[in-house]
Amino acid sequence: MKQQLALLRELQNNDLELDEILQRKAEIMSRLQENTGFLDKLVEDLNAQKGELEEIRSLQRQKKDDLREVTEQLTSRQKRLRDVGTTKEFNAVEKEIEAFKKSTEQTEEELLHLLEIIEATEKSIGEKEEKIVQLREGIASDEAEAERQLATLDRTIERLGTRRDEARGQVSKRVIYKYDFIRSRRPGLAVVAAKSSHCEGCFMSLPPQQYIEIQRAETLETCPSCNRILYFWEDGLTSDSQSEESIEA
Ligand SMILES: [Zn+2]
Repeated sequence: MKQQLALLRELQNNDLELDEILQRKAEIMSRLQENTGFLDKLVEDLNAQKGELEEIRSLQRQKKDDLREVTEQLTSRQKRLRDVGTTKEFNAVEKEIEAFKKSTEQTEEELLHLLEIIEATEKSIGEKEEKIVQLREGIASDEAEAERQLATLDRTIERLGTRRDEARGQVSKRVIYKYDFIRSRRPGLAVVAAKSSHCEGCFMSLPPQQYIEIQRAETLETCPSCNRILYFWEDGLTSDSQSEESIEA
């Protein structure tokens, strides 16, 4: 069992390293996804704003037509004012002229306001387009760098995966089953040292008889509190380097 535990510790070191590498890979992938998501959102915003600008411009064209029409009406009324016969008619036309003048002023004001909105929207669109160009460049270079990192990580994952398979082949099925079960329940260490009559995983005291069994290393012992597999700490000091050699061989 001593040898099995030594191999298991070696397998665990390998698995922990593999976990870390896989975590790093996941982080890179999620960062790339985040970047792309941010860019997509910005492009979506830009398109929405371009749509808005189109609507405002169409409103502007409509207002310009309105203004032209009102101006024509105003001119025709002003001409007619010269030819009216009665005071009553004069007053009526003059009233119309006043109304058209007011309408002209109002439309001109609205057009001015629309122009301000158009200018602000165009500026915002320009800024967004510039930002998108920068972001695309940033993402392209980030992706190139990430691809290099991912390629390195993939090579490490492959190497660690091969070592894991080798290590698992050297440990008995029963021990592997227990080890896998503990790892499936909680991340991190599944095999821990027993030192000074307590478990180094959860720091709970171990029954004296069990501590003796752990030192004998003839049986597979697990912590009654945290359920991790236990080995005698001194065995960990002497055998880890040897077991590594046995796996490398
Ligand atoms: Zn424990």
